[in-house]
Amino acid sequence: MKERQEGVTVRKEENFSEWYSQVVQKAELADIRFGIQGFIVHRPWSFKIARKIYEYFEDEVEKDSHEPFLFPIAVKEKNLTKEKEHAGFTPEVFWVTEAGLETIEERFALRPTGEAQIYPMYSLWIRSHKDLPYKGYQSRITVFRNEKVTRPFIRGREFMFFETHDVFATHDEAIKQVEKDLQMAKRIMTEKLKIPFLFFKRPQWDKFLGADDTFTPDTLMPDGKRNQLASTHDLGTNFSRAYSIKFIDKDEKEKFAFQTCFGPGIWRQLAALIAIHGDDKGLILPFEIAPIQIIIIPIISAKDEKESKKLIKYCQKIKSSLSKFKVEIDLSENSPGFKYNKWELKGVPLRIEIGPRELKNKKITIKRRTDRAGITVSLKKINSEIKKQAHEIDAQIEKAAEKYFKGKIRNAFSLAEVKKIIDSYRGFVRAPFCSVSNEGKNCADVLKEKTEGAVVCGTLFPNAEKPKSRENCIVCKKPANHLVYLAKTY
Ligand SMILES: [Zn+2]
Repeated sequence: MKERQEGVTVRKEENFSEWYSQVVQKAELADIRFGIQGFIVHRPWSFKIARKIYEYFEDEVEKDSHEPFLFPIAVKEKNLTKEKEHAGFTPEVFWVTEAGLETIEERFALRPTGEAQIYPMYSLWIRSHKDLPYKGYQSRITVFRNEKVTRPFIRGREFMFFETHDVFATHDEAIKQVEKDLQMAKRIMTEKLKIPFLFFKRPQWDKFLGADDTFTPDTLMPDGKRNQLASTHDLGTNFSRAYSIKFIDKDEKEKFAFQTCFGPGIWRQLAALIAIHGDDKGLILPFEIAPIQIIIIPIISAKDEKESKKLIKYCQKIKSSLSKFKVEIDLSENSPGFKYNKWELKGVPLRIEIGPRELKNKKITIKRRTDRAGITVSLKKINSEIKKQAHEIDAQIEKAAEKYFKGKIRNAFSLAEVKKIIDSYRGFVRAPFCSVSNEGKNCADVLKEKTEGAVVCGTLFPNAEKPKSRENCIVCKKPANHLVYLAKTY
């Protein structure tokens, strides 16, 4: 039988960009041949993983009293520009200007994010302090931005979106919500996705358009670029003033509400899962999130039809005894070697190979995707062994990810050092910096230019580190007030 070479042909460490593209295509995650730049097809394998991530966030926010809603895809032009800074989205939006043969009188945009469509409705719904806090979210939607450079799961003209929009009577409550949002993200990143990250408070010049402050968990991709996994924003009363979200407080005075919004980056988390856990063979997935957790591969001999039937029956028996897990039997006509490669490429955590010997001995060999170690057990003990192996795989993934991330942070005290570290080492650089308010923007611009793209990710949150006295800003050489983290970014 003629089989095409389907595996990844470059090493992740040698050419990450090509490795990533090959994994996306060959593991059948996304198809970029849809025909419109930046619009991709999510194939079942990535869609199932994304759906799981969505479920995690839906569970978390609903436990925190958020109610789901679904807004239209359209946003009124007038609403998009109500908040002065938020209007900065306008150059990035797609406009709907025609319907059939007619020009639409009042053109509208495809939503780039939800604020401008949700807040005008909030101003109708919220009247009194009794309506607060109000917590809503929408999930499993996409948004649209006119990006120039696009990459599957990293940057797209249409991409997966999830957003909460919360309204409070006081700023204290809003700040507490920001902290809760970060804890939700932390639980999912740590317990479910095994993605290491740091929490940052973004510098003032790099916050969400219209926010007072932006907070993010960021990880680092193997090409040394920062990957923002989620973001939560303290909106203050900027939007409530712009959209007239007011309430009558207990003292019977009318007040503007405080707002927050939280957006886990579903795509960016997918990208991190692919990039950080994967190896030269392809994807590696934590057990719970894998669309297929166990693949059973029968080693069938074409010569002995009777034996083959018995073997397939035995495989089905094993599958039905594993009903608690997501199990498939690969009955395709491909060779066992081809099947091993295929499922390793897709990151299926466990593989069971069944040949005549296994059938005879009533023993089962389980192989782990992570280190390819094999464990032989009797059919009776298979369920408890799978649980044990699932745990082991997750522990191995977590350990490898931590090892990768740890030591990715290096200190620098001059621009030359920053450049050297970023070019050769591809990690976060920690450096003294003058200011993270708008006065620091000049230094950030110089930094970006001199290092060909490094940006200030921010200061650690909630416990910002302080520079030593006498340490100076790496750019302007004035006394430093902050230790900031720098990296290149997408
Ligand atoms: Zn400076």
